[in-house]
Amino acid sequence: MDEYIRRLAEGSLKLYALEKELPPEEAVRVRRAFIEAETGTRLPAVGSFSIGIDRVVKRNIENMIGTVQVPLGVAGPILVNGEYAAARSCYIPLATTEGALVASVNRGCSLITRAGGADVRIMRDGMTRAPVFAARDVAHAREVVAWVEGHTEEIREAAESTTKHGEFLSATAYVAGTSVFVRLEFDTKDAMGMNMVTIASQKVGEVIERETGAHLVALSGNMCTDKKPAAINLIQGRGKTVVAGVRLTETMVADLLKTDAETLAEVNYRKNLVGSARAASFGFNAHAANVIAAIFIACGQDAAHVVEGSSAITTVDRVSGGVYVSVTLPSLPVGTVGGGTSIDTQRECLAMLGVAGGGDPPGVHAKAFAEIVAAGVLAGELSLLGALAAQHLARAHQDHGRG
Ligand code: NAP
Repeated sequence: MDEYIRRLAEGSLKLYALEKELPPEEAVRVRRAFIEAETGTRLPAVGSFSIGIDRVVKRNIENMIGTVQVPLGVAGPILVNGEYAAARSCYIPLATTEGALVASVNRGCSLITRAGGADVRIMRDGMTRAPVFAARDVAHAREVVAWVEGHTEEIREAAESTTKHGEFLSATAYVAGTSVFVRLEFDTKDAMGMNMVTIASQKVGEVIERETGAHLVALSGNMCTDKKPAAINLIQGRGKTVVAGVRLTETMVADLLKTDAETLAEVNYRKNLVGSARAASFGFNAHAANVIAAIFIACGQDAAHVVEGSSAITTVDRVSGGVYVSVTLPSLPVGTVGGGTSIDTQRECLAMLGVAGGGDPPGVHAKAFAEIVAAGVLAGELSLLGALAAQHLARAHQDHGRG
């Protein structure tokens, strides 16, 4: 140990190179000891963890020194009436430090289950990457677009040569001056798919560059649009586009939300619709990001994709005898293989929902998972709208989040 720390301190051994000389557990221990010495900080809690790290240090993290632990709670059971998660009663794992969040989602789950479950449907499914090319001039830009439009089969062949599971869906070209963006869309089955589509897009980019003479400037030209709020994702969808809805009677609203259908509808109209429009927000919802972030952290999803997930729309329709409440998530990037999904604790959370690993046929696990996430978001929306309608919000936070 001392010898490694001495070499790290003098710079003859790089921090990232420890795994080349030591087994992963040992490398992490030495690196942590070095950081403890450098920063004068003891890190015994960071150093206590249960996950196996052999794969993690190769695929998920560099310069690992330990883990941070996020408390994990469950909300449920919630009955999900999806196409892939059909008549499935689930306990939703939520990793968060926001007191009152799990209690709130739990209340929404009770309501949904009492109402016979949430109907959930996937409307669209496609992960995107959009390389940007530089054309010589506007006329050349038009030629590049024409080539893309006329050579779908060449593009498909190039894209699918890089993946066993990925399926090319479409290529759509957009122009801004001499910049040509080609938004490539794929069915990535059970993978969230960003690595998969990036690798495929590289191959496609090379073909377009060769055939059109336009210079491939960057593999991501931001019309993808990955991890940034963007209207294109809200309108066209990216990842899974999922909608969940539930019909509630006046009695259910009164019993569980302590309010009435009319007040619930008015809160949604004035807050989620008018308020969000006035703020020019992309999120016409109460707190979809809260539920998505907590499920994503628990289940090994890329937490930065909460940006896309937060562009959700919540509606409350007045119907005979009650309300029909829905959430629409235009852009929900999720996977059950790849990324952080195989880390032990995250995999256990996916297993709890019956969606760990690849499905049979490929794609059905990620779709079922997306349906469950949407039902969870609906539960969160119902509960928060109800708390606002009943003027209970501050009290709930005082009871659960403080003390
Ligand atoms: P990945 O970790 O690269 O693994 C996905 C691979 O698993 C697929 O390419 C596929 O291999 C294989 N696979 C096995 N069974 C499968 C099944 N049933 N369905 C689909 N694929 C299956 O994961 P990814 O989802 O492509 O990418 C996720 C990672 O990308 C995350 O760690 C995320 O943080 C990161 N990320 C990357 C970028 C980027 O620009 N590269 C951007 C954002 C996020 P085959 O392709 O050979 O079939």
